[in-house]
Amino acid sequence: MVNPMANSDAERRAQYGPDRGTADTSADAGRLEAVWQAVASVTDPEIPVLSIVDLGIVAGVRIGGTCVVVDVTPTFVGCPAVEMICDEIRSAVERAGEDDVTVNTVFDPPWTSDRLTETGRRKLKEFGLAPPLASTCGNQIGRTSSSVMPPAETVPCPFCDSTETVVESLFGPTLCRSIHYCNKCLQSFEHFKTVEL
Ligand SMILES: [Zn+2]
Repeated sequence: MVNPMANSDAERRAQYGPDRGTADTSADAGRLEAVWQAVASVTDPEIPVLSIVDLGIVAGVRIGGTCVVVDVTPTFVGCPAVEMICDEIRSAVERAGEDDVTVNTVFDPPWTSDRLTETGRRKLKEFGLAPPLASTCGNQIGRTSSSVMPPAETVPCPFCDSTETVVESLFGPTLCRSIHYCNKCLQSFEHFKTVEL
């Protein structure tokens, strides 16, 4: 199949950057908005409260002619949920009126915990899943008194915020999560692992 975007894609990326997508005309801008809305309606199959946009795995959306291309940067290489998510994105964008939808898996930019939005972090916690630790944690510990900040490997309990937690298993139900136990409220919880570059 001939990809009509092939020639101009690199130029567009150079001009606009990959993140918000590009559109040639104002009609395309409306389509782009509709496509973003469709993409944002897709949730993580394992965390149904979390939009994949808040999860930060949507690297970019591009429109060229009749084509729509969505780039997805998976949280983990080989994460089995990715294929399912790509299928759902394709269906959602097709329901938004697009016929020619391509969903790519890309590793540039790589997903890191920093791509998770504030809303995403809050929703993870509300779901009872401890969000990834801020990747600047190490620096903050350096700047603040180390007695107030938890050591980097301590994951605060999503239920009671206690840092009296221990790791039960480094591999939870999926590779992306580890299992912890809170010594204060005596509950097990999962932690969405922190991923840094
Ligand atoms: Zn607790």
